[in-house]
Amino acid sequence: MKNKSVPFPERHVANCIECGLCVRECSFLQEYGSPRAIASSWRPDSKAGQQLPFACNLCGLCTAVCPPKVGLDPRAMFLAMRQQVVANGVAPFPEHKRLIAYEKRGTSSLFSCFALPERCDTVLFPGCAFAGTRPARLLELFEHLRQDIPTLGMVLGCCTKPSHDLGRSDFFHSRFGELRQALMAQGVRRVLVLCPSCHAVFKQYGSPLHTEYVYSVLAEQPLPEQDTHHRIGKAGLENITVQDPCTTRQDPQVHLAVRKLLKAAGLKMEDMPHHGGRRCAVGRAGQCPLSVRTLPNTGVICVERRWKNRSLCLLRSPIVQAVWISSRPGCRSCICSTCSLPQKLRLKEE
Ligand code: SF4
Ligand code: SF4
Repeated sequence: MKNKSVPFPERHVANCIECGLCVRECSFLQEYGSPRAIASSWRPDSKAGQQLPFACNLCGLCTAVCPPKVGLDPRAMFLAMRQQVVANGVAPFPEHKRLIAYEKRGTSSLFSCFALPERCDTVLFPGCAFAGTRPARLLELFEHLRQDIPTLGMVLGCCTKPSHDLGRSDFFHSRFGELRQALMAQGVRRVLVLCPSCHAVFKQYGSPLHTEYVYSVLAEQPLPEQDTHHRIGKAGLENITVQDPCTTRQDPQVHLAVRKLLKAAGLKMEDMPHHGGRRCAVGRAGQCPLSVRTLPNTGVICVERRWKNRSLCLLRSPIVQAVWISSRPGCRSCICSTCSLPQKLRLKEE
């Protein structure tokens, strides 16, 4: 691996051998060129240069396929470019206002709370989407986990990953740092997360807090069998494929845990060509679609093209009556809006 102290664009100019492995996998790179070509020509003061990094999904597939002896991280380069555009006072763009407002609500006292019993050192941190869309299911999950962890607490709040991915690094570090300090001050040592984005944030920035996926914890326990089979039977689920969120790319244990849970629930699975560490971006990864208006032919269009080429054929295969199971509402809504899945399949997510 090359010298990591060299800033990202320069590192890619110097070390990318233009082998084409990442370009083959990514419509964004096919549109704009190899990481080396982009890094060589990137001008943060030009309009195109300011908008370009916001068209990358930050999905990390490029980083996953870059040969180990080269060891480059184009995803991190595009995030660093976003951070520079923000530091220059140009971004966030007007298209990002809605997301920032959403995050602001998630961090507000109205939608945040610490519910910790005495001697609590482990909390469930469900994140904004699951708590907001499935409150009854969340309470069921909490009660189920409490059978094994009697002093389990729950913390509602936002991990501020939207700001992280938009390149608002000062804001992100300040707000997430406050959350981490507040948890530690209350004696919390272990955080169980549901959302892949929260997991990515806590794992990268949450130390010394210990972060675990709730799916990994559940996979070690017996499922409430009767209830699970009743629900699956009611939903008419048979054969499924699993979407591994791109933020879990480097967490093979969660891929295994989710499949173990589904298998224990009696479901049959067939994996897509791109799954686990090699899965492609299909959702609103990196808030990319928010830039569609400023960068036509990229963003969600790039995702859709890749998705249709790869995974949708499996969903439409007569052999596999696939049902999409995703833990990310952003991915689900993007898939449903771009790929015209029948409504009944969407309902089966429950
Ligand atoms: S969209 Fe994904 S694969 Fe393409 S450059 Fe961005 S992070 Fe890499
Ligand atoms: S896979 Fe790595 S070396 Fe090959 S073109 Fe992409 S960044 Fe360059």
